[in-house]
This record gives sequence, structure tokens and C-alpha cells, in this order.
Amino acid sequence: MIAPEHPDVLKLNDSQEVREYIARAKRESAAERGAEDKEKTGIPLGRTVTNPVNGEQIPVLVADYVLMEYGTGAIMAVPAHDERDFEFAGKFGLEIRRVIEGEELPYTGDGQMVNSGRFDGMDNREAFDEIVTWLGSEGKGKPTINYKLRDWLLSRQRYWGCPIPVVHCESCGIVAVPEDQLPVELPDVEDYAPKGKSPLAAAEDWVATECPKCRAAARRETDTMDTFVDSSWYFLRYCDPHNEDAAWDRAVVDGWMPVDQYIGGIEHAILHLMYARFFMKALADLGHIGFQEPFARLFTQGMITRDGDKMSKSKGNTVSPSEYVERYGADATRAYILFIGHPVDDADWSDQGITGVANFLSRLYRAAGDAPAEDAGGEPTPLLRKTHWAIDKVTRDLGERFATHTAIAAVMELVNEIHRNRDDPHARFAITTAASLVFPVAPHLGAEVYDLMTGERVWEVPWPEPNRDLLVADTFELVVQVNGKLRDRIEVPADASKEEQERLARQSPKVEDHLNGRQLAKTVVVPGKLVNFVVR
Ligand SMILES: [Zn+2]
Repeated sequence: MIAPEHPDVLKLNDSQEVREYIARAKRESAAERGAEDKEKTGIPLGRTVTNPVNGEQIPVLVADYVLMEYGTGAIMAVPAHDERDFEFAGKFGLEIRRVIEGEELPYTGDGQMVNSGRFDGMDNREAFDEIVTWLGSEGKGKPTINYKLRDWLLSRQRYWGCPIPVVHCESCGIVAVPEDQLPVELPDVEDYAPKGKSPLAAAEDWVATECPKCRAAARRETDTMDTFVDSSWYFLRYCDPHNEDAAWDRAVVDGWMPVDQYIGGIEHAILHLMYARFFMKALADLGHIGFQEPFARLFTQGMITRDGDKMSKSKGNTVSPSEYVERYGADATRAYILFIGHPVDDADWSDQGITGVANFLSRLYRAAGDAPAEDAGGEPTPLLRKTHWAIDKVTRDLGERFATHTAIAAVMELVNEIHRNRDDPHARFAITTAASLVFPVAPHLGAEVYDLMTGERVWEVPWPEPNRDLLVADTFELVVQVNGKLRDRIEVPADASKEEQERLARQSPKVEDHLNGRQLAKTVVVPGKLVNFVVR
């Protein structure tokens, strides 16, 4: 099957009928010709080609639904397994040979290969690669990848957008505005509404200008650039925002870029992300920047479903955030969305779930109201250890994994601990820390509680750091005696064996003083409690 525009069509058959057919097909757009529901037309060229796999002769036809931009513009039709090829073959009485086992023809699913010689019995997906490899080994073909780019119209007939810095001159044509007259700024217009032409055209004083080349009267371009133009490179300007001489300085931009982390929905993967990457590659090729890729890491969040279904207006199962913001507040709504699951996964909305998150935030606020006036300080307590554990966990969960759900769960655990230990000498520090840690997901409440506890703005103080010494929560205090007299207390890992406890006790400098030079008669170990060295 061959496209009407294919350069070889007339070499194969240059009859009047074929010439007329080509002329007719060329008058239609690719979209019209490729449409599923359009009736397929074509003409046999009276020639055959050899199937490179089995040597059989196959008739060649020119057909309008074969598009020149698809591959090489000449394809092998698969009438048994492609709906358009099936319809076309039926109309022209061509053989329809099943090659994949499955349901009634045309069958477009997967299955085992049949009528395919050496490839019979193979899974069709595996056969793709096998056939290509085999063709390669026979010297009959090789795999290639064809990229298809759609044209992209840059201009819009809108007021909002960057002016396109060119003027139209009757004798010189399109002339670029000289650099010393840049940027071309938007004029003030009374009426922004579209009227079948660009709203800028109404600003006659602005439109009328002179040609930079011949000084004759000329007109400014009145279309503006689509906002995608700006979003494809604005981050470069952010790196060098006060530069008066150029859009950016390459050295400055190379110092900041690439962006460490890009976060967006999957819809960005084929729009903004792709445009921005094209822009960067072009700018890199032109020597304006020193890198090819603008974004080092991509994070794509999942979709939120309700009762397992995609939300849609027609199903009537949409969640309107404003309803929940009104009832539970913006913090609870936001924190709940981040708590349902790992943001990378799809998650199911539940009204009960948001109540739980709202209660947790209220409990933190109440704890702040009941907080002791100041911390007594002193020895580490389980609550102090829990606080440092939470700092460490939230820092790692947010910073390394975007795991907002487990980070919130850690703050919940901390708030529970606070309520169980209201009189703890470190309670105030624990509440203040919980406010810092919840701030990224519940900013209003986090800032409010932090202010109540410290009088400071949480966003102006550094992120808390865990005390590493307090992170080994699973230790106990081992009493060390010599001849039944207390000589030391040491912190020992909870899982230390009997031998390990004895060894650590012996290492105590205080014990060594009392053991020095004396004969050890025996050692008594009460695991988890004490070690007693009996000496003579
Ligand atoms: Zn001119």
C-alpha cells in the first residue's frame, strides 16, 4: 500500500486514472484522509512486490488513507488485524489472511502467530522483534524509529501574550525589530475581547510604525505569542531576573540550571515538559545555554478517584474542594489529599478519612493551648526521643521520597505521644516541633501553632534538625557494679546479648579503675538490668 504523494507511484503506473486519483487525494487534508469513518478509496497499480519473509507476490495499491508522514509512506497492509485495512481489502477483493490466533476478524488483539512459517506458535509481541532480527540476519531489513512532530502554531489573536517583534513593510517584507528597540511592549487597549482579528489591531497608534530597514511606513505584527512560548523558557529568566541587557547571562543560568525537580500531572509529560525540552535543546545548539535537559528529575502525581472510579461530572462523583475547605478548612483538605497515599499513586477519596485528618490537626492546636509555659529540660525522655525520631522521619520522607503520607503519619504519632505525656519536661519542644513538621502540609495551622509557642514565624526559622544521639531510641540503662556497689550507669542497645552487656560494662573507665590489678572471681549478669563484677 502506497500513499498518493509517494514519489514512486508514477514510476509504478503513470496512467491517466492514477494521475487523476493522486490529484484528488492531494486536495484533502491528512486528518480527513486518515479518519476512521471515511470511506477508503484506492487504485491497484497492476504491479506486485515480493514479501521479504516468504517470497510471495503481493499486489501494490495506491490508497488515500495511507499517509506520507506515516513511516516511509509505503506500508504492508495487515487486513486481518487492522480495521481500516480490513475494510479496504473487503472492498477491493484482496486476500484477508489471519496471522494471529484470536476472535473474529478483524482481530486487533494479541495472540499466537499462525500462517507465518517459522514464526508460527510465537506470541505476536515477541514475534515483532524476532521477525526484525531475522530480516536483519538475512540482510533484508533493519529496525528504525520514526518520530512524528506536529506543526505548532506560535501566534494567537489575543491581547494577552508577548508581542511578536516584527514589522510588515510593503517593500522589505517581514523585518525584525532591531535589538535596541526591544522589548516591544503591549499597548494599552480599551477592549480586549476578540472580534475575528487580534485586539491589538485596534491600537492604531501602536500598529503604525516605520520600517527599521527603509524607514517607510510599516505595520507592527498584531498577533501575540501563545503562553506556551513563555512557559517553555521563563525559568531561565528566573535565574537572572534583574538582567537589563539580555534575557539572561549564560554563566548565571548555567550556574543555576537544571531545575532539580519538576512536579506535574501526567498531562505535562506531552505538553509543557516536551515544549520546554525542545526550547532548551534549540538554545543549547545555538550556544545560549550550556545544557541540554532543563529538568533533572520528574515527579508525576497520581489521580484521585472516588469509590474506585475516576471522578467525572457525568457520574456525579466529583469532589469539590471548596465544599471541604468550608467544612474542615484548607489545611485539613490539603493535608488529607497528601495523606491518602503516596502522591505518585492514584488514591481513593473518603469522607471519613478527611475527618480523621481534621481531628489530628485540632488535637495539635489543643495541645498548644494546654502547653506548659516552658520546658523543664533535663534528661532525655521517651517524648523527646519521639520528637527527634519524627524530625528525622519527616525530613527523610519529604526530602528523599515525596512520601507525604508517611510523613503526616509520623507527626500524628508524635501528637498522640504529646497527649499521653502532657506533663513531660520536653512537651513544649515537642509541640513546637510538631508545628514545624506539619507546616509544609498544613501551613496555616503549622504557622499559628508555631507562633503561639515561640512568637516567631515558622518560615523564617531553619527546618529542625534531629539530635542523632537521641535517635537510637531502643536502648536501656545498664547498672554496673563492682562487688555489689554501684560504679556506673551506661546506655546499652536493647538488643545487646548477655556477652555484649558484659563487654560494654567492662569498658566503663570507672569500672576499670576498680578492677585494676585485682583478680576477677566471677561476673553476674542480669540481662537488661545489671552487671556485677565480683573481685578478690
Ligand atoms: Zn522597508
